[in-house]
Amino acid sequence: MPDPSAGETLLFAFQNDRLLVLEDEEVRVPRASSPEELEIETSFRQPVGYLDGGQAWALEVPEGVEAPEGTAFRDLRAIFAAVDEEFFAVAGRAKQIVGWHATHRFCGRCGGVTEPVEGEPAMRCTRCGMMHYPRVSPAVIVRVLREDEILLARSPGFPKGMRSVLAGFVEPGESIEETVHREVREEVGLEVENLEYFGSQPWPFPNSLMIGLTADYAGGELTPEPGEIEAADWYRAEGLPELPPRVSIARRMIDDFVARRDDSRAST
Ligand SMILES: [Zn+2]
Repeated sequence: MPDPSAGETLLFAFQNDRLLVLEDEEVRVPRASSPEELEIETSFRQPVGYLDGGQAWALEVPEGVEAPEGTAFRDLRAIFAAVDEEFFAVAGRAKQIVGWHATHRFCGRCGGVTEPVEGEPAMRCTRCGMMHYPRVSPAVIVRVLREDEILLARSPGFPKGMRSVLAGFVEPGESIEETVHREVREEVGLEVENLEYFGSQPWPFPNSLMIGLTADYAGGELTPEPGEIEAADWYRAEGLPELPPRVSIARRMIDDFVARRDDSRAST
């Protein structure tokens, strides 16, 4: 692990969901020899790992505070297409820590004021002592294939034209496999089989852990769920619509589908 006292620190300062970045062609955050050096008012700060040889800090900037000259607050969703996976991971972690702190100022059990705990990511209630830790909400993301076609759907919140694989939150008491079957059934009316683990990715909107699985179509008629899915269709690798940004696990799953098609074509 790098010596935190030696290098620069990278400052991931969030005001609500917006990250402070340099006004530059590339997306970069301010660097300093310590988090105190950034000339901006902060209400909370905590180290969140390492990036490019420096220690990364999450900083919370109160609402109404203006960005220092040469910097601007940008929505993390608006810039994630322009950053690499490492940057996105650290920025996402910082965003979740700041968001957790902002929503745990008071104890959920007794309503008492909380305070940060030295040395661990926790808020302790000053009245009843209850510890509050950052919450992570597991969600499944599932790639459904039918022979040489992939199922891609559109949720109402997606950027114009974009389609992606299906996703949904794990409910209390559910296994990951049960979530997959329920979500696919609810969102598009299909049955699936042959579930296999693909990979996972922390997703900071607002605090998910995306658990990726692949599945095969097993039956049913495509029936988009009103209000949840605007459209859903089967696509071949050579005719894909607009896809999610490369930094997302959704895109990795779709790219993997395309690569497999290319491989199987090359071998015949
Ligand atoms: Zn309490």
